[in-house]
Amino acid sequence: MGVMGQSIAAVDITNENKCDFCSAKCCQYITQEIDAPRSIHAFDVLLWQISHNGVHVFKDDNGWYLLSMTRCDHLQPDNRCGIYEVRPLICREHTTDGCEYDVGIDEGCELYFQTHKELDDYCRERFKKWDKRFEKFAKEQAKEAEKAKKKAEKKAKQKAAKKAKKAKEKASLSSEEKALKKAKKQAKKAAAKQKKNEKTSTAQPIVVEPA
Ligand code: SF4
Ligand code: SF4
Repeated sequence: MGVMGQSIAAVDITNENKCDFCSAKCCQYITQEIDAPRSIHAFDVLLWQISHNGVHVFKDDNGWYLLSMTRCDHLQPDNRCGIYEVRPLICREHTTDGCEYDVGIDEGCELYFQTHKELDDYCRERFKKWDKRFEKFAKEQAKEAEKAKKKAEKKAKQKAAKKAKKAKEKASLSSEEKALKKAKKQAKKAAAKQKKNEKTSTAQPIVVEPA
């Protein structure tokens, strides 16, 4: 938006002309409102996000925000908007009155964090158990693993008991019962074979008409 082509000393900077002397500071970042973090876990997630290059976290009168320092693709080398006629509404709503040219992004914020260390220090002050979270996490993981192990053991035990029961039942069958079971199986097999044969014999032959 700004041109940076004129000498600032030669002219008065006003809301009307200040973009001409600005490096388009308002087009070099984005913000996204987030739920106010309250738990240790929520702040731990923020720590992960702020660890990425150019990602900041801040809180102002309106709430908590993630800020990403990233230049708009439409910003031209002369710092003017390349899609001025169709620029998004949020760009149209932005005014030069008290804009980033006069007030730094971090100014006026209740809290502003640029680095992992800054946020980590804040969390340490805010939560007494902040540094215990890794230990707590490891304990929870071990507990989960133990739970899963017990569940798998129980399942294996049940399976083995079922198998043993079946084997026992089979072994306890008398020779007459075994013979009866075998006969039933054979009869079933024979019936299936017969059904298949009947199906084949009732199939209509394909008649080929002479040409
Ligand atoms: S930060 Fe302000 S002066 Fe700079 S381009 Fe944006 S609106 Fe214009
Ligand atoms: S669309 Fe234009 S005005 Fe909006 S951020 Fe990008 S360059 Fe700036």
